[in-house]
Amino acid sequence: MRRRCRSGMLLLASAVAVAASSLPSPFPVDANMPDHSSYTIDVDFEPVSRLLAGELVLDWRNNTGQVQESLYFRLYPNAPHYGDGSTGVSEVTVDGQAVDARLLLDRTVLELNIGHDVERDDRAEIAMTFETVVPSTSDASFGILGGDPGAGWQLADWFPILAGWEDDEGWYLDPPTRFGDPTYADSATFDLEFSAPDDYEVLGSGATVEETVNLVTDQVTTIIETSPGRDLTLSLLFDDEAGSIETTERSIAGSAVRVSLPRDEALPGLGAAMLEIAAETLPLYETWFGEHHDRELDIVAASLSGASGVSWHGIVWLDVDAIARDGQLSDRTLDTLRFVLVHELAHQWIAGIVGSNNNDHGFMTEGLANIVTVLAIREAHGVEVADRVLRTWVAGGYLAMLESGIDGVTDAPVTDESDIVTRSQLIYGKGALGFEAIRQAIGNDAFFAGLAAYATEYRFQVSNPNDLLNAFEDAGSVDLDDLWSFWFDEERTTLADVDAILTGFAIH
Ligand SMILES: [Zn+2]
Repeated sequence: MRRRCRSGMLLLASAVAVAASSLPSPFPVDANMPDHSSYTIDVDFEPVSRLLAGELVLDWRNNTGQVQESLYFRLYPNAPHYGDGSTGVSEVTVDGQAVDARLLLDRTVLELNIGHDVERDDRAEIAMTFETVVPSTSDASFGILGGDPGAGWQLADWFPILAGWEDDEGWYLDPPTRFGDPTYADSATFDLEFSAPDDYEVLGSGATVEETVNLVTDQVTTIIETSPGRDLTLSLLFDDEAGSIETTERSIAGSAVRVSLPRDEALPGLGAAMLEIAAETLPLYETWFGEHHDRELDIVAASLSGASGVSWHGIVWLDVDAIARDGQLSDRTLDTLRFVLVHELAHQWIAGIVGSNNNDHGFMTEGLANIVTVLAIREAHGVEVADRVLRTWVAGGYLAMLESGIDGVTDAPVTDESDIVTRSQLIYGKGALGFEAIRQAIGNDAFFAGLAAYATEYRFQVSNPNDLLNAFEDAGSVDLDDLWSFWFDEERTTLADVDAILTGFAIH
């Protein structure tokens, strides 16, 4: 979105033209597309007071399969770990009528009484005004909500969003943890009108369809539209003078993929290297998981805490300092970058397009993304490189745990009491090895057939562990209960078990 122009009041940045993917895809477009809810958000951002103030209208479609008389919005900025961050809501209406709304004990949940039953598949329009104060300390939850006026902003989970719905659990209202990835919502489309001072380049989910500069106030109003997604996440890069942001762009599999880096983080060749990795990876993922609906994808430098990368709807954040630790585009930096970026790109589908609860079943997101990363690198760089990635990046930490006599259950929720290092090795490491064990058991073709079936059935929907297990069992025509339980539900894995999977990787 570097098309800002000071010579006129209005500048239209048209959406990028869509070209057909170069690889055949087994996925009929929109074959399983539910009728989505849609958000319309009109908000002003005032950086000095850290305030996002505006109005939100949700055209809600009751896709829960049940009659509902109450709705629950998540106000994640009220989480205790955000300190002075907050979201306040007022003037709540449903279909134009004022309704009762109250914060539950966990102030991240707003309950509102609709006032009548909403039948399944029926709609209701919920409107509210809201004010979010972006926290001044943002070291919890990976730093996904924070920033400062002179550097820029990372805005995830910044507006009231309807809680995620699980068929077997109901509304997901668990308090966010200090480790967790709170974002968990059903797919919806978003129309955003975002006004902010003309010091920032606004990047993120969806496509910019219009950008208006007010030369009197120096405010820029950006209008963004999205395809279905589970969040609406923005990066505001500080851009006060020409050339302060380096942008590199490339058309990949019909999408405009754009890397945006502040000049002081833009190592020579780094943007091009990111795009090369994306070009190796995105067409493969489209073949494996179906079309990536957004025809714009941003890869943006971000200041993160405890993560090298985070993926959102149509935007990937990379912590360049954490990836390029030696300050140059060395082999080591490229190795790290490849693993992190291929992993984050996997999240565009897992659990972006294909939903699951990353807080309760993190292995479905992280373990699966990790093994898919290894397999994508194998396609692009051969089995030797992939084998090294599997052993060092994926299995290494978990192996070290086992060597010190510690194992644990992979499929367990993240809580405030979690030993997060151990939990991470289980979710990312043991989880990935479990999926690799399944691939070796049913064969490569059945594994990818199972993944494709899973990705088709739960496209824009929410899945649970059993859904994924069933997809692999159906594809392999085999009962995988014991294998699944061994890797994901039990804690009796030995070094020999892991060694067998690592040895088997190259021959399957
Ligand atoms: Zn991840």
